[in-house]
Amino acid sequence: MKIGFIGLGNMGGPMAANLAKEGHEVRGFDMADVKVEGVTMAASAVEAATGADVVITMLPNGQILRAVANDVVPAMQASAALVDCSTVDVDSARAMAEQATDANLLFVDAPVSGGIGGAAGGTLTFMAGGSAAAFAKAEPLFDIMGQKAVHCGEAGAGQAAKICNNMVLGVTMIATCEAFALADKLGLDRQKMFDVVSTSSGYSWTMNAYCPAPGVGPQSPADNDYKPGFAAELMLKDLRLSQQAATSADADTPMGELAQALYTQFVENEEGTGMDFSAMLPRFEKRGRG
Ligand code: NAD
Repeated sequence: MKIGFIGLGNMGGPMAANLAKEGHEVRGFDMADVKVEGVTMAASAVEAATGADVVITMLPNGQILRAVANDVVPAMQASAALVDCSTVDVDSARAMAEQATDANLLFVDAPVSGGIGGAAGGTLTFMAGGSAAAFAKAEPLFDIMGQKAVHCGEAGAGQAAKICNNMVLGVTMIATCEAFALADKLGLDRQKMFDVVSTSSGYSWTMNAYCPAPGVGPQSPADNDYKPGFAAELMLKDLRLSQQAATSADADTPMGELAQALYTQFVENEEGTGMDFSAMLPRFEKRGRG
């Protein structure tokens, strides 16, 4: 396939390289001066998109995505597919879908989980929204860049799945960290706390697979001075998207709202930027109730 790939950053770069490695003809564009193995660089997003069967975008946010789409949609050939893998707001995903459909194009919103390691290793999970025909066109590419692709429903469903999952993740990480900090103050050994909770009804992915306490449970960013992993500011981005969606859909999400407030404080006022999102544990450790 001829693929245009726009946004070749930490995630997009290795994803595009994996497509090229499998023999696809990939033309890429990024605002920054980047080079990606196997990818021919274009002078503009329009040039990367012209003549492509599929255009993939992997951009920082919905505003940038909308601006890029305004440029590339008119340049794309009829029945080509626009596949957005960025994490953006649900409303932007739906607006993209409408714009693409009006231009006789297919559209899939397909945010990913799996981080930079998953992008490099081709083991991402894609959560996709769009028509059956649009998903079918993108699926062979998802198979190269990832290990699993779930077709979640119509346009916007991929972004909805992503932010709901990450709202659970943010809330659960905070609960796990505050429980460890409480256990410390009660004189409970962290390993014993892990042994009990990880095999009791308090178990979760954050406790069992990504334990925020150093030296306890499987290897995690906590064992590497809380270097990300999944950075606190990216968690905050996703929590903000969840609250934006909750406002727009009139959903009551008090725990998500509180998680957003705590990560905002952590990232903006408590040196959480550049730390893994599990560094909430040392944050709680330092605090009392007041
Ligand atoms: P990044 O900042 O490394 O990459 C974004 C790239 O887009 C940059 O190279 C930037 O120069 C380029 N860009 C910005 N505006 C542009 C424009 N107008 N035209 C062309 N290129 C432009 O970010 P990333 O970590 O690769 O993340 C990309 C997306 O994936 C984000 O939406 C993020 O939320 C999501 N995501 C990231 C991770 C992660 O672990 N990094 C995990 C899951 C999802």
